This record gives sequence, structure tokens and C-alpha cells, in this order.
Amino acid sequence: MYAIDDQFIDRARLGDDQLQPLLAAVHRNPGHRPRCLCSAAETGGVDMYVARIGGRYVLKRMPGTGPHHSAGCLSYTPPAELTGIAPLVGTAIREQPNLGVTRLSLGFPLTRYSGRTKAADAGGDADAEERELDNTKLTLRGLLHFLWDEAEFVRWIPAMAGRRRWPAIRRYILLAAEAKSTKTRPLSELLWLPEPFTVADKPDIAARRTATFGPYAGSGRRQRLLLALGEVKDIAPARFGRHQLIIKHAPDCPFILDPDTLTALKGHFAIELGLRQALSDTKLIALLTFSVTVTGVAVVDRIALMNVTADWIPFESVFEHALVSGLVEHRRRFRKTLRYNQPATTPLASLILTDTNPPTACYLTTTATSGPPAAINPDLPLTQWIWHTSVHAMPRIPPPTTNRRDRVPTTPSTAEEAHDPTETKEVRPWTKHTTALPNSQNPDCATTSATSTE
Ligand SMILES: [Zn+2]
Repeated sequence: MYAIDDQFIDRARLGDDQLQPLLAAVHRNPGHRPRCLCSAAETGGVDMYVARIGGRYVLKRMPGTGPHHSAGCLSYTPPAELTGIAPLVGTAIREQPNLGVTRLSLGFPLTRYSGRTKAADAGGDADAEERELDNTKLTLRGLLHFLWDEAEFVRWIPAMAGRRRWPAIRRYILLAAEAKSTKTRPLSELLWLPEPFTVADKPDIAARRTATFGPYAGSGRRQRLLLALGEVKDIAPARFGRHQLIIKHAPDCPFILDPDTLTALKGHFAIELGLRQALSDTKLIALLTFSVTVTGVAVVDRIALMNVTADWIPFESVFEHALVSGLVEHRRRFRKTLRYNQPATTPLASLILTDTNPPTACYLTTTATSGPPAAINPDLPLTQWIWHTSVHAMPRIPPPTTNRRDRVPTTPSTAEEAHDPTETKEVRPWTKHTTALPNSQNPDCATTSATSTE
């Protein structure tokens, strides 16, 4: 439920066309804040703002207010400090609600100068190690994570099972790119994602792609770059010593990798490539910058990769894949957290279970992480679950709260059992049967989430 300009609007009505004039009026008067009433008993409501995206007026959460929403609310986000976004907020990512724009500072070039050696520019995302400490700019991987976060593909509820397909992924990533601006150009002007491929539409799709790439084709000293996002189908040898990256849905548009870029890719994304090889039911997502030659050939400049499950949920290791897959299988609700610029050695929450009360921050620590996660701020309604993957099998997952709306706290004995990874007796990660409500009984499952409708 929302309070908008003295009216109470049910969440299910937000997409109604009749509501657009009201939202437009609020958009013209940013001093009038709509409020989300999901946690009204505790907070009195959480301020929101209206943005214009895809030609429609939509409600957005105010910067930094995600944790104030109830865990089941569409606008809930875990506290920023549990994720990789925290050091970037206000520097690399600057939300300006009054203007309805988010300004992004990018740590990679959108222009390529001929004569500049690849050694200095390293290719791929090769200088990420140094830039990871520069939190005033987004790395290419940071931008990929930001788009995935903004498109809400980090949020999972059982109703989404089997419903994510490339057309929906493409649509919501493009919507996520709207109202985002780089230093020089709107992000939406730069970002290309392949249209869903059909044989019948192949000529029209190719014509539209050519029209998009055409203005960027050139051979001068200074070449503007575009961004492409897609699922990697293959990286295969091309002729004359080069390789080609094939993106799904665009088999007739190979992206050429020169030897330096390929070397950088293999060096800096060996883990991602290895995980894709090891786990056959997963996908590899690429975000890349590329130039277009005067003859229309796309040539990769830099690239970042991300592993996602069959349900398009990001993961970083076999262990995390097992956790995410188990949660999906057991019809749990959670929100995946992403690393952005932060290196693998920084301990960050892997995901937040949103069907426990309070929400549970789940950490996976390995011998590679630099230490245990920081203690949770006692003011935050969160508990911790830690899996030392180098030492133990997966500890028991905290069971879901039977009815999240009742706010029944987990009993201390259960919490202790669930959160103590040093338990010596054999424990099973999953309770024998979960108690999550069927979709029809739970109002949140019926909502028109941006990522659950297709
Ligand atoms: Zn809310």
C-alpha cells in the first residue's frame, strides 16, 4: 500500500494507466513525497519518488532507504554495507531524485584512440585490480552488477521460477539503463542488447542492429565505443589469429577479440570461464565495450564476465551456486548481493534471506577471503549465517518464518542451531519441508514485480 498525494493506493494498482496522471502530478512537484506503507507500524512509511522510465511514471525508492522497507516489500534492499555498492554510493553512483536521474562515473573509456598501445590500456578489464580501490568510478563489472541490481534480477521469490527468459532480461535491463547518465551521454544511448532471435525476423533484426552500430563505424584516430550486454554462447578461433565472441541471439554478429584482449580476458576471468565449463546448467553474461570498423565489424575493447544460474541469479563459486540453487529448489525468498568493484578477498554477504524474521545475511567465507565478515550493526534487524566453505559442509539454513506478516521471531534454540557452523554433529542444510506459503496465499507473490511478470 502506498500513500500518494493523500490517496491510499494498493500496490497492485500501481501499473494502472488511470494512475499515470496522479504520478505525473507528483513528478512535477518533487517536494511531495509518496510513501510506501509496508513498514508503517515501525517507520510511519518510507518516502519514495516518481521517475519517468520507458515513457511511464513509476515509483522509486529514495537513495539509502532500501533497508527501511519490510523484507517482503519490492523496494527492500539489504543495508548497503553488506554489498559491494556501499563505497560507490555518492561517488561513482549519484542518485538525484529531484531530477529523476542517476549519474554514473565510469572507470573505463568510451572512446578509443588509435595509436594508444594495448599494453598501456591492458585490454579486457585487466587493470581492475588497481581500479578496484578507486571507488569514485565504476569498473565494467561494477556497471554490469549495477544494471543487474537495478533490473531487480537479484530478487527471487518462488513465483519467478521458470519465468525468466531473454526477452524479459533484455527488456528490464534496457529499462534499468533509462534515466542513467554517464559523463557524456545517456547510458541508454550506449547500451545494445541483442533482440530475441527468430529466423523469420532475421533480416529486420540485422537491419536494426546495423542502424544502431552504423553511426559508430569509423577508422579515424578517435573512435566512440558502444556497450553490449548478452549471454556468451562461445569464444572460438576466428581466422588470421584472432578469436570471436558469439553472443546468444546474435549468431550473425561476431565480436572480434584481438590476441591482447583475449589474453586479458582469460587471465582476469579464469574463474568465471572455469565455472561456466564446470556447471553445465549455468550461463555466462558479458558486458563489453566495442568499436565498429568502417566496414561494420564489431571489435571488443574491454570485457567483464559474470556467472548466473539457470534462473539468471549471479553466483561466484560452486558453493554459492549450491546455496542459490538449493534456495530456489526449496521455494525460499532472498535477495542476492553483488560485489561491484570489490575484490574477492573482501568479505561481503552472499545473499539476504527475506523470508526469515529478521532477514538473514548469509556469508560464504573461504581461505581466499581476508577474514570473517564485520559484525552487523546492532540497530539493523538482521541475523548472520556463515558457511566456512573451506572447513565445513553447508550448515543448516534458517527455516522460513511461517507467516512473515505475523512477525514471529525465530526461537533462540533454532537460531543457535542454524547459525553455529562449528556444530560437530551432522546437520542437514535444509529442513525436511519448508513452510513457505503457497503463492495463492501470499499477497506478495501476486504482485506485478518487474521481474516476475514474464
Ligand atoms: Zn516498502
